[in-house]
Amino acid sequence: MKKLKLISTGKSKSLYTTDHHSQLVMEFRNDISAFNAVKLDNLAGKGQVNNDINTYLMNFLTQQGIKTHLIERVGPQDVIVKSLKMIPLEAVVRNYAAGSLCKRYGIAQGLALQPPLFEFFLKNDALGDPILRDEHILSFGFATEQDMDEIKKTSLLINDLLVPLFKQAGFWLVDFKLEFGRDNEGKLVLADELSPDGCRIWDATTQEIFDKDRFRQDLGLVIEHYQAVAKRLGIEASASS
Ligand code: ADP
Ligand code: UDP
Repeated sequence: MKKLKLISTGKSKSLYTTDHHSQLVMEFRNDISAFNAVKLDNLAGKGQVNNDINTYLMNFLTQQGIKTHLIERVGPQDVIVKSLKMIPLEAVVRNYAAGSLCKRYGIAQGLALQPPLFEFFLKNDALGDPILRDEHILSFGFATEQDMDEIKKTSLLINDLLVPLFKQAGFWLVDFKLEFGRDNEGKLVLADELSPDGCRIWDATTQEIFDKDRFRQDLGLVIEHYQAVAKRLGIEASASS
């Protein structure tokens, strides 16, 4: 399927229209950013390995009955997705304390969270993606009570499905961010991506970091660790471009 018109260029992915009105091509670029685009780089191979991991995880979730936007991978860095009306929220699920949670509440990094913690953030770079209470979401009209319930339930179900998958590969799935949209029929669909850019993934024994924190914290060997995630999950690397 041909990419027709570029309709959005985000921090790490681009979206194109296609000759099918309800389908887009999502391109995983090699760009990487952190701290609200204050720290930027371009890492060869990142688009491809993220497309590898995202395709594998979204296909796995589809097989388990989760509705996702993934239709078909069509190139090393390209995937066809269902065009959705996006809900402007980030849904974060956490199994261990890390990142902004530790800063906000002063709790120890690595603390096991039982039950897993669910949080909503506003998807708004200019405001630094502030955390939201359900009351904010309702009163501001960002989403309905039904949207929130469905997003929370689906996110926690996705967590229940992904944690054992990562565990088998010797990883802790520390936390991850999801985005959802609604399709033409009004159904809630998992959108965006599932990759080490939007997850924290630690070795289960050594707690070595395998995700975007390697970039955030200047730990080096970013792509090598992303590729190791793919390899340990049993994902075959796609042919290079
Ligand atoms: P950002 O800089 O916003 O984080 P990305 O570089 O990740 O953006 O680009 C992806 C953009 O595409 C995001 O704004 C995301 O919300 C949006 N998006 C993801 N999946 C879909 C979809 N299926 N339909 C429409 N928009 C989508
Ligand atoms: N995350 C993301 N995009 C964002 C904010 C967070 O993908 O805009 C992911 C992040 O990589 C981590 C999880 O969501 O896996 C929780 O992030 P946190 O709130 O701890 O924020 P951070 O420390 O990344 O700023």
